Amino acid sequence: MAIDLSLAIDWTACDGRGWCVELLPELLTQDRWGYPISHEDAARATAARHGAPGGARPTREIPVPPRLAAHADRAVESCPRLALRLRRIS
Ligand code: SF4
Repeated sequence: MAIDLSLAIDWTACDGRGWCVELLPELLTQDRWGYPISHEDAARATAARHGAPGGARPTREIPVPPRLAAHADRAVESCPRLALRLRRIS
């Protein structure tokens, strides 16, 4: 299945309350401060805290599968801080 959209997160604008995580739980979860991150980044951060090699720097651009494009668009439209953006990547 082709992925042609990514969800960009501006953490400097985000309030960390997690509204987008409730709207898009298939892609997003919250870090320990409440900011939205991908599930893959959350797993990497947990592994890093337990001594796994590699950094835990989160990914600002999260690929959006086509089946979730409408949900991602709704999350972007609903963000009260305009901290989310959908970008075409192909
Ligand atoms: S909805 Fe917007 S402000 Fe709220 S947590 Fe998500 S990105 Fe941040």
